[in-house]
Amino acid sequence: MANLSVDQLAKLKQALQQRYLELQEDVRSELERSGDQRYIDLAGKVSDVGDDSVADMLMDIDTAIIDRQVQEMREIETSLKRLEAPDFSDCTDCGGEIGFDRLLAYPTAQRCTPCQSRHEKTFHHESNPSL
Ligand SMILES: [Zn+2]
Repeated sequence: MANLSVDQLAKLKQALQQRYLELQEDVRSELERSGDQRYIDLAGKVSDVGDDSVADMLMDIDTAIIDRQVQEMREIETSLKRLEAPDFSDCTDCGGEIGFDRLLAYPTAQRCTPCQSRHEKTFHHESNPSL
């Protein structure tokens, strides 16, 4: 169950929105630097569209140069939506609390620290038989 206060949720929301704006700015300068007129036109639009539709708009075009940013923007949009849900601060693996400090540092985190490291270990060592 979520134990976050209204104040903590507001801080997390702010952190997510701040990060989103940074990414948006990042995307805009990457597009401008590409030297491709289509992308440069698009860069102008990135600052005009509303927060919700930037990633959608960018998904539609082949933009390998901004893949990482678009992916993270997607995660942020998901987190912003989940922020309203009662299980927002619950770990998706064990159902325990992710914890406010961890969420503030990684607002898109979906697992608590122990589950995250277990997940990463499993993921990274899958092809590596353990003892
Ligand atoms: Zn967990």
